Amino acid sequence: MHSARPMTREALQAALERADDHEEWVRVLADYFDAAGLFYGHGTDNAGDEAFWLIRHLQGWREGAFEAKPDASLAGTAAEIAERRATLRKPLAYLLGEAWFAGLPFHVDENVLIPRSPLAEVIEGCFAPWVAIEPGVRILDVGTGSGCLAIAAAVHCDGVIVDATDVSKAALAIARRNVERHGVADRVRLIEADLFPSARERYRVIMSNPPYVPARQLESLPPEYRHEPALALVGGETGVEPAERLLEAAGDWLEPGGILLVEVGAEAEPLIERHPRLPFTWLELERGGEGVFVVTAEQLAEYRERSR
Ligand code: GLN
Repeated sequence: MHSARPMTREALQAALERADDHEEWVRVLADYFDAAGLFYGHGTDNAGDEAFWLIRHLQGWREGAFEAKPDASLAGTAAEIAERRATLRKPLAYLLGEAWFAGLPFHVDENVLIPRSPLAEVIEGCFAPWVAIEPGVRILDVGTGSGCLAIAAAVHCDGVIVDATDVSKAALAIARRNVERHGVADRVRLIEADLFPSARERYRVIMSNPPYVPARQLESLPPEYRHEPALALVGGETGVEPAERLLEAAGDWLEPGGILLVEVGAEAEPLIERHPRLPFTWLELERGGEGVFVVTAEQLAEYRERSR
């Protein structure tokens, strides 16, 4: 329901204090979010999930807390955060300093893109059926940001060794905190680099959620995106420049049988148009998301040979 005038913070707080259960908290907060015309897509895709996330966060994700009677003393903080979410159009993850990805909590701030890649599904499945993953297998995450893809791989795939690059020192500092938080410092190495590390290692998987928004489109994205680092969003004029750099060079860092796995979202079409002879495999993802491709080391080598 869209009300003509947004509810004040005081009214929102009062409505929460009156509520009998947390289902009602979700309804009240979701109505407030919807009335504010928010954009969802930085961790959730609807107002109800956004409300649930806020409530559970304030409860410290304590088991049973959501089912228990609401603690009225949380109403003030909830209303205050909801108001900032609505007026600043700042993604909830930044307001809470935390985002969930692949079932894991990650520390985030405005130096890193909010974790949300559909690659989570592929990582949780340990890259099946594309490659076999066993302990000791090396994986490279290009443009790691918060470290979410790299850390998720280290946590979900037993014994893998992950290198993760980023060109942003500030992002790497956040990634460092997340590596420590998840206790994977012995298997995740963070490297400051523009795409590829300087040491010529060989990887079974190179994965990336590179920036892929065409420069001219940034302005037209919902206001929530303006809080994210442009560096992590804008993929040059065309949007596909970073993806093309990956396609061009990945072969030199992949072991035989390895794969390049990249998210390019809505830029899939332009990428296909520019590379009609590259045999991309576009993934069908159970949990949704589009524009994720796999190409094998062999396909990359053959493509490179033919384009010579
Ligand atoms: N539109 C994309 C998203 O919201 C942008 C992400 C990116 O450039 N990697 O996920």
